[in-house]
Amino acid sequence: MTPNRIIELSARAIARHVREGSLRATEVLEAFEARADATEPVLHAYLLRARDEARTAAEAIDGARAAGHPLGALAGVPIGLKDLFVIEGMHTRAGSRILEGWIPPYQGTHAARLLGAGAVITGKLAMDEFAMGSSNENTPYEPVRNPWDPRYVPGGSSGGSAAAVAAGSCAAALGSDTGGSIRQPASLCGVVGLKPSYGRVSRHGMIAFASSLDQAGPIARDVRDAAALLQVLAGPDPLDATCVDAPVPDYLASCDRGAAGLRVGVHREALASEGLDPEVAKAFEHALAVLQDAGATLVDVELPHAEHAIATYYVLCTAEAASNLARYDGLRYGARIARASLRETYEATREAGFSAEVKRRILLGTFVLRKDSYAAYYGQAQKVRRLIARDYARAFEGCDLIASPVSPVPGFAVGERSHDPLTMYLSDVFTIGANLAGLAAISIPAGLSAATSGRPALPIGVQLMAPALQEPTLLAAAAAHEDATDHHRLRPPDPPRSATASEPDPGAGGAS
Ligand code: GLN
Repeated sequence: MTPNRIIELSARAIARHVREGSLRATEVLEAFEARADATEPVLHAYLLRARDEARTAAEAIDGARAAGHPLGALAGVPIGLKDLFVIEGMHTRAGSRILEGWIPPYQGTHAARLLGAGAVITGKLAMDEFAMGSSNENTPYEPVRNPWDPRYVPGGSSGGSAAAVAAGSCAAALGSDTGGSIRQPASLCGVVGLKPSYGRVSRHGMIAFASSLDQAGPIARDVRDAAALLQVLAGPDPLDATCVDAPVPDYLASCDRGAAGLRVGVHREALASEGLDPEVAKAFEHALAVLQDAGATLVDVELPHAEHAIATYYVLCTAEAASNLARYDGLRYGARIARASLRETYEATREAGFSAEVKRRILLGTFVLRKDSYAAYYGQAQKVRRLIARDYARAFEGCDLIASPVSPVPGFAVGERSHDPLTMYLSDVFTIGANLAGLAAISIPAGLSAATSGRPALPIGVQLMAPALQEPTLLAAAAAHEDATDHHRLRPPDPPRSATASEPDPGAGGAS
């Protein structure tokens, strides 16, 4: 099989070929590495390529097959991990200078489960520092570019993961989602991003941003690949006490169940906002029509507190981040700038190690937790979070899923929003609710925007949300949508366009 054919295979098909012996894991790895060699100079999706480790893992899979050993569900599948996933012995820094040089002495649950299923880890994917951002511009390193048009951001914070999967420099990837960081970049890069219910996947070995909101999940090229990865990742973990002790259903089987009889809720009020791009609105209405054709019915839902979601999220996530990031003191992990006193060492290390957005959030979080502002901010946000969760619980009494756009715009250019944190925070208006309420949610490709004089054609995603632990329903509807459309088969230009033009090119099309 030619390298280009191999890259086009689904993760499931790769594993099947490797198990059956019609492809070697080393040959698969070479195909994806060649694609990464070609795309990385433009895209910068990887912070670290683990060539030697990947080669050793692929050879071990081929050796195991030759010896007649049974192979796992992801045998020989090249998978990249967002840089906040701990991999024993592999440089891990959550996209931050403060963790520069940290080599984890232990294995994270995600890497352990993927390797146990036969996956080949290709490296660490770039991200907004400590997962704070929506564009991958909050980074001291080279920002990731969107494979559809490198003058555009790939979304964030799992932008490296989404860009790598879209470009074919790995077959699937892991991201993390605190307020939308799996779904929004998946939407902007035209791939599938699944945020599992809170507690469905362990957080052991995932560097914390906001512990009550963070979830790990797959980014993949189709819904069934995302289901196959979830199958391997999900389930209780003695190393994470917040992990839900519930049986793991057969997610791949759920994908074949269809959407017939499912009631899909739509929060019409949220769609009326002026910030919603007409191309996104159009793709969303089309996706609803596809679900209806597949046998789903639409119902209107009310989410009375939805307008407070962003404010609530930014109080809670900054509070949790401020306390989670207190551990980076220059003594225990990574980089240290030594000074005469302990206090000066802390200050110098944290001053140099964190960039502006991380500092902004530590300051905000420290402020909302202060004794004299706690009740007005943190305490209040906890109460509103409860109301938002109750809104969803009530809405789900009348429907099985809630559908919405993912990002209000198809994408934005590098530099367009980076100096305006508040506009950037609005990127997640549709995704944050699922984190506040602990729901399962997925972003699936819904087509490309029409190229206009100021903007190329860019991918658009649609989001489905389900009650906690209802991933089977989510996957059934997502796969039904995918089976009835070809959006997930669209691929970005190969080779990628050059990123040198600084301004978006009037009339440039990304679909051809
Ligand atoms: N964009 C959101 C933020 O900046 C969400 C990030 C995330 O989900 N990790 O916080």
